[in-house]
Amino acid sequence: MLFEESNRLKSIPPYLFAEIDKIIKKKKEEHIDVISLGIGDPDTNTADAIVKELCKEASNKENHRYPSSYGHKVLKSAAARFYKKRFGINIDPENEVLPLWGSKEGIANIAYVYVNPGDLVLVPDPCYPVYKIGTMFAGGTTYAMPLTEENDFLIDFSKIDENAAKKAKLMHLNYPGNPTSAPCSVNFFDKLVDFASKYEIIVCHDNAYGDIYADDEHKPVSFLNAKNSKDVGIEFYSLSKSFNMTGWRISFAVGNDAVIKSLGKYKSNVDSGVFNAIQHAAAVALDNYEELIDLNNKIYNRRRKKVWELLDKIGFKYYKSYNTIYIWVKVPEGYDSASFAKALLDKSNVVVTPGSAYGSYGEGYFRISLTIDDCRLEEALDRMKNVF
Ligand SMILES: *Cc1c(COP(=O)(O)O)cnc(C)c1O
Repeated sequence: MLFEESNRLKSIPPYLFAEIDKIIKKKKEEHIDVISLGIGDPDTNTADAIVKELCKEASNKENHRYPSSYGHKVLKSAAARFYKKRFGINIDPENEVLPLWGSKEGIANIAYVYVNPGDLVLVPDPCYPVYKIGTMFAGGTTYAMPLTEENDFLIDFSKIDENAAKKAKLMHLNYPGNPTSAPCSVNFFDKLVDFASKYEIIVCHDNAYGDIYADDEHKPVSFLNAKNSKDVGIEFYSLSKSFNMTGWRISFAVGNDAVIKSLGKYKSNVDSGVFNAIQHAAAVALDNYEELIDLNNKIYNRRRKKVWELLDKIGFKYYKSYNTIYIWVKVPEGYDSASFAKALLDKSNVVVTPGSAYGSYGEGYFRISLTIDDCRLEEALDRMKNVF
């Protein structure tokens, strides 16, 4: 019997780096020590206090039943306290917060909430692939907003085609960003709110790296710090990267109450909310954010510096950002993103992500991830130094 996939699934663009994956697999089978700097998944454990809370709440019988699709008040009020303390923003925990199974889920599902077949969604290029795939699954089309180094990888609203802006239903964006690592200012978010209000576009800001920063000078702002931002959209705040909780699948959407309500309505029809014990544990994370984030940032600062030093030494150019767990590096003369990634793997058994994986404006770059222990990172850098 032939199990034919839906057109939706069949229309996922072909994976560009299958060849590189094949080489990695073959090398591993040959017991060659391959080091991956390609994956953005924190290598540090989730803090004990968070794990303990999960264990405690997991044995509470009340949590063994269906949770509410609209979230548990323990996490919603912790999220509101956190936004107040961390960003200085007032949030109504009952109507302006929605717990999610990770931001990826929320980003993919928001398309089904607002996008009709044929609708247009604005996405950055390069970007986190889910913005495009989610849109496509819902039958929408994406319009690329190029991010270039000349413009510090910020969206240039004046370059968005007027007709596209008029037609657009939704916009995704992400600062500090993956893969570019670029941050933005409140001033930028203010311009975003103006643009979105003018064209009546729902803003979905993906704040996955909002608490990864080198020092106070580089502390990211929230989209909700912009004036009238709550009128035009929401922010996805993920605990995955900032609290080393990628495996837990927990984040929340925060902002415009109507968007929160509609996303909750959608979710109540396709899932039944997040395990309450996980919501309790996430609340502990948010309530102790200062201490927890500090520990993480010390680790990433050390690694970021190590990578910068090496790149300076071998003369590779990179975007100097004090945010995220990534470094966005220009490929050297004579290569494109894919051929460089392949050459690096061939010559040194080190894996990096080719920038073109994130969109055509990622071409000419590769991404190094800092989520690997210091010894392995040093080993990988040594190998790079020896071949370039
Ligand atoms: C890692 C990442 C996510 C995933 O968040 P989850 O909460 O783990 O689903 C979302 N957006 C960006 C830009 C990311 O890099």
